[in-house]
Amino acid sequence: MNAIIDILSELKNVIFPNVCPACHNNVMPQGRLVCTPCLCELPFTDHFDHHDNKVASHFYGRVKIYSAAGLLYFRENSFVQDIVHSFKYNHNKEIGIVLGKMAGEKMLMSSGFRQAEVIIPVPLHPKKEYVRGYNQSFVFGEAIAKTMKIEVLNDVLVKGKSNESQTGKNRIERVKNVLETYDLKNKDKIKNKHVVLVDDVITTGATLEACIMTLYEALPSKISVVTLACAQ
Ligand SMILES: [Zn+2]
Repeated sequence: MNAIIDILSELKNVIFPNVCPACHNNVMPQGRLVCTPCLCELPFTDHFDHHDNKVASHFYGRVKIYSAAGLLYFRENSFVQDIVHSFKYNHNKEIGIVLGKMAGEKMLMSSGFRQAEVIIPVPLHPKKEYVRGYNQSFVFGEAIAKTMKIEVLNDVLVKGKSNESQTGKNRIERVKNVLETYDLKNKDKIKNKHVVLVDDVITTGATLEACIMTLYEALPSKISVVTLACAQ
């Protein structure tokens, strides 16, 4: 039986080769994020070793956080953008899992994240999740949680009303707009705990800020933030 499964798996690889999402040229082995040349080029940040960093600076003077970090730098038309796109829209969950493991390993080595107790992904609107088949932040967060041997919870911070368009709104209006769209359930699950909120890409920080303000109502001991990618 195992032999048949192996043959079928080989056959699948021949028919649907696992093409590198970054360069679209090289075929790579199963379970790999990108091909070897692209892996060497991935622009990792140094945020896990530096408390004062680009992601943390989004929250200065706005909302209190303990630690913040992005895993990769994100630029328009860069291959990190291709990777994120492939993860979000091409059903390439494997990318988020591999990057989540990498983030988890960095967190275990980082004084700002080592003591984290719970991972909370930024929720996606149920309609969007249905269309996409998964919440990319949950996939990323679940891989972090498994690596750190801690819990990931998707039943504490939940999506409320649908987002109005953020276009044409100033920062305060944007925060207010998204603030109304998150709700808390099962508050006791994060009370007195060091919570790490995770998301795919941080742009203005307005979504994360709204999530953090909502999470504080459940009285966690600390809130930290980890994103898969951030602007350089
Ligand atoms: Zn490649």
